[in-house]
Amino acid sequence: MKTILVVGGGPAGLSAAANIAEAGHKAVLVEKEDRLGGAPILSGYAKLVPSGEWAKDAIGRMVDRVEKHPNVTVHKGTKVTKLDGEVGDFTATLSNGEEVKVSAVILATGFTHFDPVNKPEWGFGTFPDVLTTTQMEQMVASGKIACPSDGRVPERVCILLCVGSRDRQIGREWCSKICCTVSANLAMEIKELSPETDVYIYYMDIRTFGLYEDRFYWKSQEEFKTKFVKARIAEVTASPDGRLLVKGEDTLVKRPIVIPFDIVVHAIGMDPNVENPEIANVFGVGLEKHGYIDRAEHYTNTCGTTRRGIYAAGAAYGPETIDDSISQGAAAAIRALADAESSAS
Ligand SMILES: Cc1cc2nc3c(=O)[nH]c(=O)nc-3n(C[C@H](O)[C@H](O)[C@H](O)COP(=O)(O)OP(=O)(O)OC[C@H]3O[C@@H](n4cnc5c(N)ncnc54)[C@H](O)[C@@H]3O)c2cc1C
Ligand code: SF4
Repeated sequence: MKTILVVGGGPAGLSAAANIAEAGHKAVLVEKEDRLGGAPILSGYAKLVPSGEWAKDAIGRMVDRVEKHPNVTVHKGTKVTKLDGEVGDFTATLSNGEEVKVSAVILATGFTHFDPVNKPEWGFGTFPDVLTTTQMEQMVASGKIACPSDGRVPERVCILLCVGSRDRQIGREWCSKICCTVSANLAMEIKELSPETDVYIYYMDIRTFGLYEDRFYWKSQEEFKTKFVKARIAEVTASPDGRLLVKGEDTLVKRPIVIPFDIVVHAIGMDPNVENPEIANVFGVGLEKHGYIDRAEHYTNTCGTTRRGIYAAGAAYGPETIDDSISQGAAAAIRALADAESSAS
């Protein structure tokens, strides 16, 4: 029986730990927060795309499966401070003072939400009715759509896409992959709860990839009347009547547009985990140029990093969906067990 260390208890890490345990091996799961579940639980996501299931139910099932499995030891509120040894024979020192001997390590340490105060001209932190997608999801989960400033029902809500993604000016070149779909879905949820509210989505391009196109993009437009505006946003300011003015250029008709809104939502992207430099140092792995964990090789060393015996999965590698993070967690579990086995023989 092998013991594998899994770092991070989000969708990727929960999947890795469950697959190791269900294959008859042992997993030691180390999570720095006091709860398992990763971003969907810690940030209070509402209904997930594409399943439509509430995050607390879907990810809650994953947490239960891991916490109830006798082959998994969970350390919450804990970090790994030191890793010695090599594949087949690592010793990890945990911040709770414990030492664990493991054959391989899986880094499922995820991402950090982009903080929109880094885009000050778009009003976050200045106006109470400018929110992030996670805050708007929490409002949806509460069952009532209202302006935080005074509780009125919003006549118009807009969602600005690519906030902290595809923006070279602020050093975020990547596409965060899921926010177009999440936003098209959020627009439908807002309309469902508040039929009198009109929802606009300002976009550069729409990337509801694969099977998400008709289920989210077209459905949001055709059935829920979400208005998609291709635009470049310049700034969000206050109007004299206490509403928010979104100013920019409609890039299809090439004209300036200024529309008043009651709530403006920033579809925030996925930054590299702010702790990645520390993680790279403790585990001796490389980072790629944006600061995500580097892959060793794409085709024959699935889920590998630059150090043998250490794997990664999910958003630790770059912006990723939950479904793909779960698949990568399972793939990393198989690779880690296979490597541990071959190093022992
Ligand atoms: C606004 C928004 C909405 C989204 N909605 C959806 C959706 O509806 N459907 C979908 O498929 N995807 C969605 N996503 C993407 C989704 O959040 C990610 O796919 C998913 O969270 C990735 O899982 P993960 O386990 O790789 O990382 P995370 O969820 O980030 O989990 C990483 C875990 O590791 C822990 N950790 C980090 N560093 C350390 C450390 N040093 N030591 C120990 N533990 C550590 C963290 O506390 C966390 O628990 C959304 C993303 C955003 C930004
Ligand atoms: S998924 Fe859509 S909103 Fe998110 S960064 Fe990519 S293009 Fe922008």
